[in-house]
Amino acid sequence: MRSVERRRKTVIGASESSDGDTGLPKYVYLFEEGNASMRDLLGGKGAGLAEMTRLGLPVPPGFTITTKACNAYSRSGRFPPGLWKQVEEGMASIEAKTGKVLGDPANPLLVSVRSGAKFSMPGMMDSILNLGLNDVTVHALAALTKDERFVWDAYRRLLAMFGRIVKNIDGNKFGAVLERYKEQTPGKKDTDLTTDMLREIVAEFRSLYRSEVGEDFPQSPKEQLREAIAAVFRSWNGKRAVDYRTFNKIPHDLGTAANVQAMVFGNMGDDSGTGVAFTRNPSTGAKELYGEYLPNAQGEDVVAGIRTPMKIVELKESHPDLYVEFARAADVLERHYRDLQDIEFTIERGKLWVLQTRSGKRSARAAVKVAVDMATEGIISKQEGVLRVEPIHVVHLLLPQFDDRAKAAARREGRYLAKGLNASPGAASGYAAFDPDEAETMGRDEKKPAILVRVETSPDDVHGILHSKGVLTARGGATSHAAVVTRGLGIPCVTGCESILVDYDAGEFRVGDKVIRRGDFVSIDGSTGEVFEGRIPTLEPDFRKETDLQTLLEWADGERVLEVWANADYPRDAERAREFGAQGIGLDRTEHMFMETDRLDVVHEMILAAPEYRRVAAEIRALRQEMVSAREDKKPALAKRLSLLEPVLENLSRRYLGSLEKLEGLQREDFLGILRVMQGLPVIIRLIDPPLHEFLPKYETLLVHVTKLTLARGDPDVLVRTARSEEDQAFLAEVRSAGGGDLARGIEVLLPKKQRLLEAVAASRESNPMLGLRGCRLGIMFPEITEMQVRAIFEAACRLTREGIDVKPEVMIPLAGHANELRILREALEAEAKKVMEREGVQVAYKFGTMIEIPRAALTADEIARHAEFFSFGTNDLTQTTFGYSRDDAEGKFLLDYVKQGILPFNPFQVLDREGVGQLMRVCVQRGRKVRKDLEVGICGEHGGDPESIEFCHELGLNYVSCSPFRVPVARLAAAHAKLRHEIERTEDR
Ligand code: PEP
Ligand code: MG
Repeated sequence: MRSVERRRKTVIGASESSDGDTGLPKYVYLFEEGNASMRDLLGGKGAGLAEMTRLGLPVPPGFTITTKACNAYSRSGRFPPGLWKQVEEGMASIEAKTGKVLGDPANPLLVSVRSGAKFSMPGMMDSILNLGLNDVTVHALAALTKDERFVWDAYRRLLAMFGRIVKNIDGNKFGAVLERYKEQTPGKKDTDLTTDMLREIVAEFRSLYRSEVGEDFPQSPKEQLREAIAAVFRSWNGKRAVDYRTFNKIPHDLGTAANVQAMVFGNMGDDSGTGVAFTRNPSTGAKELYGEYLPNAQGEDVVAGIRTPMKIVELKESHPDLYVEFARAADVLERHYRDLQDIEFTIERGKLWVLQTRSGKRSARAAVKVAVDMATEGIISKQEGVLRVEPIHVVHLLLPQFDDRAKAAARREGRYLAKGLNASPGAASGYAAFDPDEAETMGRDEKKPAILVRVETSPDDVHGILHSKGVLTARGGATSHAAVVTRGLGIPCVTGCESILVDYDAGEFRVGDKVIRRGDFVSIDGSTGEVFEGRIPTLEPDFRKETDLQTLLEWADGERVLEVWANADYPRDAERAREFGAQGIGLDRTEHMFMETDRLDVVHEMILAAPEYRRVAAEIRALRQEMVSAREDKKPALAKRLSLLEPVLENLSRRYLGSLEKLEGLQREDFLGILRVMQGLPVIIRLIDPPLHEFLPKYETLLVHVTKLTLARGDPDVLVRTARSEEDQAFLAEVRSAGGGDLARGIEVLLPKKQRLLEAVAASRESNPMLGLRGCRLGIMFPEITEMQVRAIFEAACRLTREGIDVKPEVMIPLAGHANELRILREALEAEAKKVMEREGVQVAYKFGTMIEIPRAALTADEIARHAEFFSFGTNDLTQTTFGYSRDDAEGKFLLDYVKQGILPFNPFQVLDREGVGQLMRVCVQRGRKVRKDLEVGICGEHGGDPESIEFCHELGLNYVSCSPFRVPVARLAAAHAKLRHEIERTEDR
């Protein structure tokens, strides 16, 4: 695997760990002695300076004191033996290269001492500049540079830095003096201070130093240097640094290196300056030098924003030679490091010095473009290009995002409200709606952006969600209804935002003393979980226009082993999935179609009649059997009973089987649509899964309605008098409309209907519905429902096959826990499928398989595999059943606290729990494939779109991952990462 990025394992340079002359450890490395692989010893900055020196770039000469020296100092509070001598030798080397001497009264050398640990800890440790200035060299330098102002400015900077960092003088004391002088200038800026003022400031700083420390600022440059090195070492154990390491999990025993380097100055006149530049545009990725240059200034002036810098391209006009030289250095660095570089440089009197380079931070767009361009230019391989782009970059490119600056402004303006769970990524701004009907009207009819705000959502809210730009809920977690539905639709969603108090009646939510009312603007960031008051502009995505991303994903497709399928219920979702590159449908949740408003009445009728139908049919069967062997004198009674029951059954059959027939027609259309869109690719259609009462109104609501209707029989107006909330008003309207405008009549019409419903709901109520009559259990208890679904699937498949369309239906049975469940269902359903194919005279290639959602199914996978041609891990349920956590409640109640307290490392409903759930999956794959070698195994739980979980699926050798259409591009990349990373690991292990 030649072309894939490998971690470099360069051998450490010549004299590795001891000083040749003394035999003492080698603590000092000249820049030319080190290289990029020596980060442990020289820190990131030291290794970088060494590497740049080796490349022949103009780096001010210097040396690095190792992290080992720092650790020795930390242990004893003293420089270890031999260190100072090596520092002096290092200084001699710098002096020889620059022709200047530390403390020389004629031609003095100034140096900096900068910290630099193995891992970047920006701003956490200390650095001291301009060391070597004293009352003598200040004059020498002034004479040499003919720039007195610059020299006194450098001296005052040294005094303040040294006082603050080495002697712990409160920096504000120096700042106050400086402010006093700045106040006296017209512009009130550092640059407005005159030479005389700077001279006076130096005098004041020196007396401040004396009064605070009890002695004079050291005039000996060597003493300055020694103290500065010690202070940099001490800053490793400063509070800021320790806290930072603890937070970022950086070990405390690494130590920092100290880099001693000749100073170069960008503030020595108009032929000097300082700048920061990227080798490519970090925002768009365009191949152009991008950055800023500030003439006559030092590095810190750019950061401080003292003056507006010029664009780096302007340097081309003002100093064409320097620009060309810098561009060449930038090119060398980019080609050497094979990545976009962020370079700091200084120009001192027309001479370019490169001070630092590192991989540049970049936007998602730039990450993709730079990876594709660099691979196309041959700087990196395609595989490296694929690895350079993070899944999160893809997420960002394909979802509306808040404009970062606008979001920061909203925060500054105090519009940040709360933070919940980042349930479905993307950003949205819109009018707050607290009712799904209202959101639907707003979004569909008024064409206004709506944010649906609910305590939590249920299937009753779906029509509102469909027409909203975003959803915000106070309760619920990563696999709550709101989260799953919005992810499927690609709508941003924040769930479990417990600090918002939603009041439906008032049509508002509160956070502390802030109130957001119906119609107020609210903005949610589903990628971070943040909620803001007011509008924040968003940037809209378009996959078809993302040509670089498409190229990158094609490269990823060429690498990955895992296929990527999509969870999609409707043809339009399937179309989107194909556009995003899905290779099949891994989960079509057929019950979602039952929820559609035009079908709900038929579904209700079917559910209400089903139990009674089964009971009466069973009784008639038993009676008929009894008749056969009954004594003659008993027969008339039996016949009478039968004659009473038969019309009842006929009626029930009309309602139950009649409803199923209607549903069969509708489902056939559903399957025709999705199979047609997915022609040539597999489509896994899952048979009905949720408990039936999920399709019925809530028990509590029905109970209230029946009670009210009963009470109102004698006094219909009581309904009007007591209608306070919106729900009451809606109920009142329902009663009126049932009575054709007449309340009393409405009550009489509605009451028996609601009573029947209440009885049916009460009869089907379960204490633990998620562990109850659902999944394959439903198909066993009510075979007519799943048989109807299978007929619809095969009727659709036969019809399309006749049209010449290649269809690959796979029928999936949910929630099996015992092989017998599967055997019974499969036998019945496959017989039904065969009947349809025989009737239609068409053969369709199909598979029957099951979901693995119960630990027992995973453990007995060998038994299960005898009756299944494929497995699909339903890791939402498998996580629920393995942990014993209710997926609907846990996140709101304790799970997020568990994560906060570190009891769980992450939310197992978002990222697969490899040790527990993962172990079951591993066992399942092994046992299943032992029985059936070609067993197709995939995953369709929410984890199928999570990059870390995808990596694990790759390890397990699954055939595919299936996720919401919007996550398909991310999954394509993550699957390629998984494969490439494993290859790299294997190569490195060898
Ligand atoms: C699952 O359990 O992982 C699954 C995909 O099914 P559902 O979420 O519909 O229960
Ligand atoms: Mg499930």
